[in-house]
Formats: sequence, structure tokens, C-alpha cells
Amino acid sequence: MTAALALPPAVTVLERGWLSSNNIVFDDGDCASIVDTGYGSHAQQTLQLVRAALAGKPLTRIVNTHLHSDHVGGNAVLQAEFGASITIPPGNADAVERWDDDALSYASTGQICERFRFDALLAPGSFLELGGLSWQAVAAPGHDAHMVMLYNEDERILISADALWEHGFGAIFPEGEDEFGFADELSFERWFAHEQSHAEQNQRADRCGGDEPATRSPMRAAVVLPVEVAFARSRMELGA
Ligand SMILES: [Zn+2]
Repeated sequence: MTAALALPPAVTVLERGWLSSNNIVFDDGDCASIVDTGYGSHAQQTLQLVRAALAGKPLTRIVNTHLHSDHVGGNAVLQAEFGASITIPPGNADAVERWDDDALSYASTGQICERFRFDALLAPGSFLELGGLSWQAVAAPGHDAHMVMLYNEDERILISADALWEHGFGAIFPEGEDEFGFADELSFERWFAHEQSHAEQNQRADRCGGDEPATRSPMRAAVVLPVEVAFARSRMELGA
């Protein structure tokens, strides 16, 4: 069972069925953005769901955490419908430009993905604003060598892509990535431990300053459950 956690009003999660990734729609005021767009065979359903979530606002930006077919399959349809720009992590930019469906894993997995073009790159460590909140792109190699997560420190929300999800961590494909996939996944856990420690230090500083203790919610991963729960499941999978 997933924990129901309240999200800021500008953030709407479209929870999707297999094989589509969830989509996260951000109200940017006069316009809107979306993170990840589902699988290609669901593209028309994605379009309908997004149109309903937008409530008449234009979709101006699509951001992808990584380029697996279940995260970018609605890109082309949404780009054609709304003229939205597309921002991707830099690692596969050349492959998208050439539309090398071997390098992009679509050919080898037998999965479909309508060709799209990108407009901007999302470098790990950089920040972007979505829904009036500042999000940092955090490199999360492992499941995909070039994947990024999006982290908002103020609200302690982690959009974990496939690095961490409801039942543990995303699948790691040794033949598609490299032998370091599992080690990379564990390096993500170290990043999380560092963030936790940073948040706890801030809480102590708040208390020492005489203010009310900060009411920090647990970090929320995959937008639906506390990240600690997902890590516990990941450790079980790893036998760690
Ligand atoms: Zn993936």
C-alpha cells in the first residue's frame, strides 16, 4: 500500500498503468510543464489526461528524467499538440538527434517510440523552476546511465524517475548499461544519506536559533511514498 502524501497544489501526478511512467504536471501560472510522458501506445490517453489536467492552460515545456520508451512515448504527440519545448538529460542527446533507436534502446527492446526533437538539455547539478518551485537535477546513474532525478529541497520532494519506486529500485540492465549499474544505484543511496543529514542539521540549527522546530516532512520519492520505505525495499532486493 502506498502512503498518501499531500503535494503542493501546483503539482499534479497522473498515475499511469503499465507500461507508462507516471506523469507530473506543474502549474506554472499562465502556462504548465510536464515531467515524463508515458509509453507510445498510450499517447492518445496521455494527451487526454494532460489536456484535462491543464484546464485550458498551454503546455509549454516537457522535461524528461531519462529516455526510456515509457518516459518519452508521449513527447511527440504533446509537442505536436501544444508546441511544447522538450528538455532532456545530455547523455543521449546525440542519439536523439540522429534518432539512433539502437542507442536509445527502442530497437533492442522491441518497444515503440515516435521520434521527437529536443530543445534544451538538463545538466546534472543545474536547477529549473517547475510549479513555482526550484528543482535540482541530480544525476542518478544505475537503471539508466544518464538518468536524472529532480529534487526540491524546500518541500523535500524527490521525483526519483526509475532510480527508486514503489517496490524498490528500477530494473538494472547489465547488457544495456554496464557492470557498474548496481554500484551506481548504491551511490544514489549515499546521496540520499547526505541529503538526510543536511536536513537534520538544518533542523538542529532551527532549534538552536530558538525558532519552532522545523516541520519537515519525510522526503517523498516517486511522489507517492517516503523515500525510506523505498530504500528498505531496495535493500531487500539487493540482500543488503
Ligand atoms: Zn527507465
